[in-house]
Amino acid sequence: MISLLSDTAIRISCFNCSSKVVKPMKWVKSHNRVACKCGTSIRLNTPQLIVEIARDELSFASLNWAV
Ligand SMILES: [Zn+2]
Repeated sequence: MISLLSDTAIRISCFNCSSKVVKPMKWVKSHNRVACKCGTSIRLNTPQLIVEIARDELSFASLNWAV
């Protein structure tokens, strides 16, 4: 199931400028930080982001079941 989700895009909110950085889930899972265009380094291993990834996996799964 995880392999099916590897191309899912994750939206990461920048705490500094509030813009969204979009990265593939497989990229997020193999990195600890992402650089925003404003120059801020955003930590990826935060509880908030983990919750967002879980939510995206859930919505992807339910979308898959509905088809
Ligand atoms: Zn930013």
